[in-house]
Amino acid sequence: MANFKIPIQLNIGRLLARSRVNGPGVRFVIWLQGCNFRCPQCANQELLSYEPKIIMSVSDLYELITSNTNIEGVTYSGGEPFEQAEGLYHLSKLLKKEGLTIMSYSGYTYDELVYRNDKYVSGLLSTLDILVDGRFKADEAAPLMWRGSRNQRVYFFTKRYRHYKEVINREGVDIELSIADKDVSLTGNFDMDLFEKIAERLRDNYGVVLTENV
Ligand code: SF4
Repeated sequence: MANFKIPIQLNIGRLLARSRVNGPGVRFVIWLQGCNFRCPQCANQELLSYEPKIIMSVSDLYELITSNTNIEGVTYSGGEPFEQAEGLYHLSKLLKKEGLTIMSYSGYTYDELVYRNDKYVSGLLSTLDILVDGRFKADEAAPLMWRGSRNQRVYFFTKRYRHYKEVINREGVDIELSIADKDVSLTGNFDMDLFEKIAERLRDNYGVVLTENV
């Protein structure tokens, strides 16, 4: 139980307590709700609106994450994480004290984030081990490690994961099927044709509705 309260609230689209395909090691993944970029063929259409979905305070989210054992870090995806930079900055500082690593996606490029000259955007950047930057571009789509188009770059801000640099441009499909109670979801790096095929099989053979956590 945290003996402090950080009342700043985050608007979250989805949470996944354990994932092996959203960054290095086993990670808690937070998909932030809301993104203005509207990239054609964005796989996360339901995360684009800014309507309230799961509203959680930084303190409550911190408690939820740290109640999970055997994770080595947290990944912020979206939606656009940097539109909620203030809350994520405070959350990151708390999580780093617990020894967890932090990775974030952003539709903004690193240069665009720096150019914003915003104290919370810069603060959040300073807490990251890894940043995957840039919009999804369908005409540059490729099944690269942790990302779906070639323009997206991976920055290793700390030494912890720099050994991944050697393999970061390998191509290959990473898929993870998560089953929690009656919720079945697919996450990872795959194209929507494959998702539709798996969803159809699960629906027709088992009556299971598959959701995507890209
Ligand atoms: S930046 Fe990401 S979440 Fe936002 S529209 Fe583009 S692909 Fe979708």
